[in-house]
Amino acid sequence: MTLQEKLAILADSAKYDASCSSSGSTRKNTGGLGNAAKYGICHSFSKDGRCISLLKILFSNCCCYNCKYCINRSSNQIQRATFTPEEICYITMNFYRRNYIEGLFLSSGIIKNPDYTMEKISNTKVIDPTFVSIKKKKNATSITNML
Ligand code: SF4
Repeated sequence: MTLQEKLAILADSAKYDASCSSSGSTRKNTGGLGNAAKYGICHSFSKDGRCISLLKILFSNCCCYNCKYCINRSSNQIQRATFTPEEICYITMNFYRRNYIEGLFLSSGIIKNPDYTMEKISNTKVIDPTFVSIKKKKNATSITNML
């Protein structure tokens, strides 16, 4: 699975988390300016009142629990994907450098158990943001045009 495919799956899975103030809308460029997708970027407000854009994704939509209301419940037949901490760092920093976003909204299904999942998410925070070796991975090449 390419990094771009993972991004599409895990941004789409995150749109059901209603704790952000918006998740955008679908808009195709038909001669005017800009395209938009209904997932991926959400908006929140900083303490000084600015509206800021966040990349809104799940670390993983795999979950060992089966909460009946949840799209990511273990019994649901959906396509599953999981980022690595390095992939999230790479995507986030590249979107940030291009001024697409000002932050990251990261949530996740529960992989194995809550401690294991939180450890993975915590690892994402401590990676050197200049980490670029993922660019050399074959399955990451398709996303380099997008970032
Ligand atoms: S624990 Fe898993 S199934 Fe339950 S709400 Fe969270 S992601 Fe969904």
